[in-house]
Amino acid sequence: MSNFKFSQKLTEYLNKIELITGREIKFFESPDLGINGITAAYNYHSNYIQITLNMENPRSTDDRERSVAHEATHGYLMHKLKFCRPIFHENVDDNYKRDVHLLFTMLEDIVVNKIIQYNGFHPFGHEYLPMVTEEIKIAHKGEEEGEKFYKRFTDNPHLEALLMISRYIIAWGFLKYYHLEPHEEKLILEFTQTFQKYYPDYYKFCVKIEEIIEENNIFIANDECRAIQLILHLFKLDAGIELTQIN
Ligand SMILES: [Zn+2]
Repeated sequence: MSNFKFSQKLTEYLNKIELITGREIKFFESPDLGINGITAAYNYHSNYIQITLNMENPRSTDDRERSVAHEATHGYLMHKLKFCRPIFHENVDDNYKRDVHLLFTMLEDIVVNKIIQYNGFHPFGHEYLPMVTEEIKIAHKGEEEGEKFYKRFTDNPHLEALLMISRYIIAWGFLKYYHLEPHEEKLILEFTQTFQKYYPDYYKFCVKIEEIIEENNIFIANDECRAIQLILHLFKLDAGIELTQIN
């Protein structure tokens, strides 16, 4: 499977995914995963489940294991559950691809984190709640300061706007679909409420995404596919791709 040493729990989980999907999980290393600060990334490949790790990003073993389980589960969504993936038209640029991938990830992550939680992993890493605490503080300063804050993750203003929106949707998804500890729920709720109040221009889009998710059961491939199509359309990002469920 890899040269990386994993716990028995993670090894068993990865073995299970390989068995169910009929795809080997392959590991790669890269210091640049597209958005600053992330530790692991999933990339679609038809024959195997590709996970790229950024070993320069220091994290606890627990968090690294959780993020490997998380990325492998993206492969499970593709190869077993037949979730949609984008096929890009020729000549679309990399920025466009990154925007599209971020929206796919936003939606899939709600499903992925639920599955890993069911399999005994925490739905979010240790850094999530401290980050949400910081984001609440920043949000109180208004949109301009918020934009500056999220710029640390990407230089691209369009991607940065989508990143802000996806932070809200991920938090909203935790509140809607997860059983959380009371202190976790309280903090995440405070973040969504602060976001609504202080980032009205971004929240407008969040409301529309919430509606789409509520009308389509994103835990089922066909519905998720329809939802992502509507979300791409909302951001006028649907012209350069086709969606496929042949994975
Ligand atoms: Zn993910």
